[in-house]
Amino acid sequence: MYRSCPLCEATCGVAIEIEGDRVLSVRGDDADPFSKGYICPKGTALADLHHDPDRLTTPLVRDGAMWKKVGWDEAFDLVAQKLVGIRKAYGKDAVAVYQGNPTAHNLGLLTYGQLLMRTLGTKNAYSATSMDQLPHMLAALLMFGNQLLMPVPDIERTDLFVCLGANPLASNGSIMTAPDVKSRLKAIRDRGGKVIVLDPRRTETAEKADQHHFIRPGTDAALLLAMVHVLFAEKLVRGRLAVTGLSELEAAATAWTPERAAPITGIAADEIRGLARALATTPRAVLYGRIGVCTQEFGGLAAWLCYAVNALTGHLDEPGGLMFTTPAVDPLPLAAMLGFDGGFARWKSRVSGKPEFGGELPISALAEEIETAGNGEDKVQIRALLTSAGNPVLSSPGGPRLEEALKTLDFMVSIDPYLNETTRLAHVILPPTSPLERSHYDLALNAFAVRNVAKYAPPTFERSPEARHDWEICLALWTRIGVPSKLGAGSKLVHRLLGKLGPEAILDLALRTGPHGFGRGGMSLGKLRKSPHGIDLGPLEPRLPARLGHADKHVHLAPAEYLADLVRLERKHASPPNGNLVLIGRRHLRSNNSWMHNSERLVKGPPRCTLLIHPDDAAARGLSEGGAAKVSTRKGAIELPVEISDEMMKGVVSVPHGWGHNRSGTRLRVAEANPGVSVNDIVDPALIDELSGTSVLTGLAVTVAKA
Ligand code: SF4
Repeated sequence: MYRSCPLCEATCGVAIEIEGDRVLSVRGDDADPFSKGYICPKGTALADLHHDPDRLTTPLVRDGAMWKKVGWDEAFDLVAQKLVGIRKAYGKDAVAVYQGNPTAHNLGLLTYGQLLMRTLGTKNAYSATSMDQLPHMLAALLMFGNQLLMPVPDIERTDLFVCLGANPLASNGSIMTAPDVKSRLKAIRDRGGKVIVLDPRRTETAEKADQHHFIRPGTDAALLLAMVHVLFAEKLVRGRLAVTGLSELEAAATAWTPERAAPITGIAADEIRGLARALATTPRAVLYGRIGVCTQEFGGLAAWLCYAVNALTGHLDEPGGLMFTTPAVDPLPLAAMLGFDGGFARWKSRVSGKPEFGGELPISALAEEIETAGNGEDKVQIRALLTSAGNPVLSSPGGPRLEEALKTLDFMVSIDPYLNETTRLAHVILPPTSPLERSHYDLALNAFAVRNVAKYAPPTFERSPEARHDWEICLALWTRIGVPSKLGAGSKLVHRLLGKLGPEAILDLALRTGPHGFGRGGMSLGKLRKSPHGIDLGPLEPRLPARLGHADKHVHLAPAEYLADLVRLERKHASPPNGNLVLIGRRHLRSNNSWMHNSERLVKGPPRCTLLIHPDDAAARGLSEGGAAKVSTRKGAIELPVEISDEMMKGVVSVPHGWGHNRSGTRLRVAEANPGVSVNDIVDPALIDELSGTSVLTGLAVTVAKA
């Protein structure tokens, strides 16, 4: 059986050998045209996930301190009755929703899940976006006219890959779907090209690069402005695209000389000049910025400037540069139909005035919106929460506060296969089928793939009659709650039709009407079924200006929102850095956020939830390898083992996130035996990029001492 691995963004093809209802082996699918046999260690753990004895298979309803198994209809009726009652009593904003990261890998949640979550019509919609890629989406909206128009590096044809705040060797690419990044980066060097990494840690990617520069966390915007300065000062600006805002961007960077940026960033002025010149003079080059760029105090500015530097150097929408994909399913019309509407700051959160983006509020607002009493029809307190595929108690800043807030809800329901640190606080848990029991198509991730590809897989195992897919759960709730859809005002006919269709029919329609549909060789679900290893649809192609969402069909280089935010950057850097130790995160190839820790094969070996610290910083604090350190902020302290390494920049320490499986009431036996600590317990949720609302997870001031 062949399918794509749904555990990270790389979408590797896997070949699964089964016998009866058991998985015998999972290996890379050599015939997959995109991943060509590559899988990482997580891929083989698909079997662990499927056979995990801790995975829930029947709905659970809280009964005091115990959980009671109930039938699906009873569970659906109870959830609908509670949610409808709360909506009626307090208004639709009283019901909040939270969608976790695995949603992006799940055909059912990307179709029927959105119908449910988006059409509930609540302003209290939250997701992992505001702890992740929101600044890129904001830049896509403001510069290209649609929040989903995020360009990806054409890594297959570039000759210079400059990687800022990203570690694709551990993440396998993010907003850059690229299985086996290691080989792809090696190929750049083999063809005479260069890989340059800028990161506060000498990461796995940096180890394989031609150059690595340490950069002080949170200073990417200063570096990028200095590069923009060099491009204008040395008349290196080029490109075929029609743009607006060129002179405004030049003016914005005038004061940001490399000499000014050098002491802020820790990168020498000559190096900054060299980077800008190399990008401008290499015919096929790209600057790729990712999670470290987004999750910092100036994440909005930094993400904008990443795209702007590519545009100024003529590498936007050009082979080898930063390009837009042509996936078999065009996500733009589909997303619009399912309720995603692009927009920014159309409203603010009730309690602290954080900006809305794409119909969602920043996750940092969730706890306060639950805690704070409402005062009127438009100022509604959250009374109920629906979570899906997420564990915000571990994955979002201020976990302990959110945990306490969740306990006060009138009602909480979680669509999730695990009793985890968040779902244990729910009143009802609705567990969906395992990834191997459902069909798979990468609706979202193909839109960010470095080649245009398409692949569909039917379920490896048929679901039992007692089980329910995510989409069936969402449809059952949607139907019972009776919320309207953009497809037709909530009529019974639409509900019945959607019930009969299922995600495959929606997929088939989207394939047939997509860019590779009727007119160009007839892409359809039937065609994909006949190609179980997937279909290669060719390299990325220039898509601008046609693809731009702006009516003027120009790339907007200097949106007013960014120019206004530059004042905040100036203020920040008016005085020199204070010399505090600062914190960054990190990712391991065997882990993905909070949900891969219940597989023995992925957590075995030395502990991975450690404090990484430079030898000089360790010595100054009397820390020894393997000893315990206490890391503190004004929000609290965590203790964890010390790992000393000169891979860290001096003055910077690193703790991975997603750990902290030591809360009572979970059912994750392997994770509980390897708990680690949650770094989010000490991250202040009030710290956000004030422009975009994204949580600040990079460059946080911490105190480190011997525990
Ligand atoms: S790299 Fe990602 S998609 Fe590929 S096998 Fe590993 S977890 Fe799965």
